[in-house]
Amino acid sequence: MSCISREKYTSYLERLVRITHNQPVDRDAYVTLIKSICTDYKLTKGMTEFYITPMMEQRGDGEVYCDFDTGNSKKVLIRLRIVSTSKAVLIGTLYSNPEEYVHDDTDVDQLDSLLRIILGYVSRVRLIKKLEEFGFSDLDGYRNFRAFARFMDINNAENRLGGKVAFYLDLHNFTIVNQEIGRENGDIVIRKYYDLLCDTIGDTGIIIRLGGDKFIGVFDKTLQDDVFRIFSGAYIAYDVTGKQRVNVSVAAGIYALPIPYMMKSYGDIMDKIMLAGNVAKRHDGESIVVYDDKMKVESDHIKQIQTAFPGAVKREEFIIHYQPKVDIETKKIVGAEALCRWQIDGKIIPPDDFIPILELNTFVSELDFYVLDHVCRDMVRWLNEGRQPVRVSVNFSRKHLIDIDLTDHILSIINKYNIPHDLIEIELTETTSDVMFSDLRRIVSGLQRENVKTAVDDFGVGYSSLNLIRDIPWDVLKIDKSFVPQTEDDGNVSNVMFRHLISLAQDMGLECVVEGVETDEQLSILKKNNCQIAQGFLFDHPLPVEEFEDRLINKTYK
Ligand code: C2E
Ligand code: MG
Ligand code: MG
Repeated sequence: MSCISREKYTSYLERLVRITHNQPVDRDAYVTLIKSICTDYKLTKGMTEFYITPMMEQRGDGEVYCDFDTGNSKKVLIRLRIVSTSKAVLIGTLYSNPEEYVHDDTDVDQLDSLLRIILGYVSRVRLIKKLEEFGFSDLDGYRNFRAFARFMDINNAENRLGGKVAFYLDLHNFTIVNQEIGRENGDIVIRKYYDLLCDTIGDTGIIIRLGGDKFIGVFDKTLQDDVFRIFSGAYIAYDVTGKQRVNVSVAAGIYALPIPYMMKSYGDIMDKIMLAGNVAKRHDGESIVVYDDKMKVESDHIKQIQTAFPGAVKREEFIIHYQPKVDIETKKIVGAEALCRWQIDGKIIPPDDFIPILELNTFVSELDFYVLDHVCRDMVRWLNEGRQPVRVSVNFSRKHLIDIDLTDHILSIINKYNIPHDLIEIELTETTSDVMFSDLRRIVSGLQRENVKTAVDDFGVGYSSLNLIRDIPWDVLKIDKSFVPQTEDDGNVSNVMFRHLISLAQDMGLECVVEGVETDEQLSILKKNNCQIAQGFLFDHPLPVEEFEDRLINKTYK
């Protein structure tokens, strides 16, 4: 005698097919149906398993669902194992208790058919979910750009993007955080920070990882205060007790989508948030920066310079001007600084207009080696022509500091032209971070061993510290004009500081050069403070090489 009538079986079959083929599947209705089938068929438990591959089945690495269990199972009544065409493994097991009820062949046949439909359903739902995970998440389980694109497309089609806020984020100092708490904890922190943002944004938007510690997303403008608060800093715990915490903050580029907003491409939004994000990443300003059209003009200018640079180097469009350094006592030229200019179509572009842009990538290093090379070439000529050259200083950007081979590279250029090492001086600016400080010490010591002179440039601007001159073996201290007192009033604080700095530097064996000397009054202040060398418009502007060579003949100013 079968459990249920043929009609009931057929109706279950139909309902099951209907429910499992409806999109989206009503999970509650599905579970209710399963429970009623199991009860009517006097089963004690029903279980399904899903494994993406047979290998994962062997390892037991899969998903198990059990929507019905009386806790009274004695025997496996049916066990079906199906391998799908995509090699996913589906297993369905139905249990019974023969002490309560013994199933006949008809029961088993009917249950077998019902179970096959259920397994087909499980396979489809699971595979779609996996596909979703693979397609819309990266390997670490963060949602990826495809998920962002899908969110934007759907909302764009429904005209719901206007009023949302798009953002690009880069976590602050994450390399240092990783160094301090270890990479594994670093990963936990990033994940938790991401989860915090996801929870805050909810389903009004999306946040996805572009890679590393960089994220993009959108959220509803009504949540802006909450989200910005998290951007500005949130304490994230990385241990179970919650006691070990780090403060995570970000550099964020923001673009508020106008109302109404029709997206033409993701590229437009991406360009804007990344531009603003790059401004936010600069160390000297706000770390949440809202996009402004001026940024686009600036970015086009940057692209233009960067595109033109390689050709300009080949065509030797960069020329070198020399600005004399003068001994204050004797008025003789005792050195010069090589300053670079870009000559295009008869126009001369000053370095401040292109060096900061070339510093955004590695171009500046190429330029500095080019300048050193050209200075060496000029010097060889002076030596061959029997002129008495003076030591020439060349500016090297701080971007070189990470270059392990910098000293060798500098020496290889100087040696290529057989220039006596002490005729070359390398000017480097001070730095603020500890890591760069030790790089600076390594480079300066390396050059000193080879008798190439070194100078700290622009001392007195920014965060100059006395450690910089105490712990690094410089030869020359170049004092910025802003540090020079305005008047000769001896009691005035800037005079006292200046006098002490000069005497301290001289006691340490440093040569002092004051930059930007423009007036006789400044010169007399320098004299009063026992300063030795001055560089500035009072004597000469940076000069084209021929004019500078003329100065080298007589070498003395009036
Ligand atoms: P810097 O190394 O501090 O060079 C001194 C700057 O002060 C030069 O500006 C010079 O023309 C200017 N100057 C000299 N005397 C006076 C004066 O009496 N009054 C005033 N107001 N200014 C004076 P310049 O040539 O425009 O160079 C600007 C900066 O560009 C340089 O500052 C240096 O940081 C950078 N630079 C120039 N050439 C190179 C280069 O080949 N490589 C790198 N990395 N940077 C360079
Ligand atoms: Mg300089
Ligand atoms: Mg300077």
